[in-house]
Amino acid sequence: MSTILVTGGAGYIGAHAVLALLNAGYEVIVLDNLSYGHRELVEEVLKVKLIVGDTNDRALLDKIFSTHDIAAVMHFAAFIAVGESVTDPAKYYRNNVTGTLTLLEAMVDASIKKFIFSSTCALYGVPKFIPLTEDHPINPISPYATSKWMVERILSDFDTAYNLKSVRFRYFNAAGADPDGNLGEDHEPETHIIPLVLFAALGKRESIAIFGTDYPTEDGTCMRDYIHVADLAQAHVLGLEYLLKGGDSEVFNLGNGNGFSVRDVIETAKQVTGKDIKIVERERRPGDPPILVGSSEKARKVLDWRPNYADLKQIISHAWQWHQKRHVN
Ligand code: UDP
Repeated sequence: MSTILVTGGAGYIGAHAVLALLNAGYEVIVLDNLSYGHRELVEEVLKVKLIVGDTNDRALLDKIFSTHDIAAVMHFAAFIAVGESVTDPAKYYRNNVTGTLTLLEAMVDASIKKFIFSSTCALYGVPKFIPLTEDHPINPISPYATSKWMVERILSDFDTAYNLKSVRFRYFNAAGADPDGNLGEDHEPETHIIPLVLFAALGKRESIAIFGTDYPTEDGTCMRDYIHVADLAQAHVLGLEYLLKGGDSEVFNLGNGNGFSVRDVIETAKQVTGKDIKIVERERRPGDPPILVGSSEKARKVLDWRPNYADLKQIISHAWQWHQKRHVN
């Protein structure tokens, strides 16, 4: 079976993708610099080879590609904090853009020409229409989103010049956890609504803040498209198979097509956990568009992707199962 190099495989989405690859019968090697990832996740839970290192380390990449027979690369390693990217753009361009460029150059030199890339719906900017389709105008409003868009452009040019074929997945809000409870979301610091609301349910924080209650939505709070991380991971396996079968470069949205408001998330978390969660209403968070909901019709059609967990309650239940387990341990 083919060996796949997964960068960022010690992180949240990367680790779930490793699990999906293993379940589909692939061999996996993880490259992660452990700046935010978790060693034990790779070595003890997933039990795959971990190479600790950076995508900016060309000598290391050359060594990996010359000593292993890698069929394709799945690239998750990136910094993801939108706010931090505004105050420290250099960090984002160096890691997310230069690191990816170094990786792609090493791949071309090693004649490895299949690449799966984690992109983001943030590159659409403030939506001009909903649901967002892949042909929506691109207008990134943060260095984070710009860094992802720059890589998408590089990938187009690398296809034209070097025949490197890529699938670029533009994620909506990844959430939830492995349904079997072995993996979950473990960011430090945590900024995402679902883990934060569950921390409040666990008593690890006093309350949950709602950032903005005067948006032009039904209940005044922002709406997002939460996609189960296991469905996201499964799409990556399908994207890989598409490329291995000779598919051309493509871009796909990955969302579940349903919008849920911040109040929906908190209410559902109350139901799932059976806890009363204290809410504090706060100012809007800068840079938050009122509604981000995507159409993933293209991934359904071309990749035959069928999300299994579109229900918010199920997504939050799986996350809750994971956070409870971690809290006890
Ligand atoms: N949000 C919130 N309180 C929090 C964290 C997030 O009200 O403590 C809101 C945020 O403003 C956004 C939505 O929840 O409208 C989802 O935010 P998250 O950070 O989870 O993901 P993003 O959409 O920024 O990628």
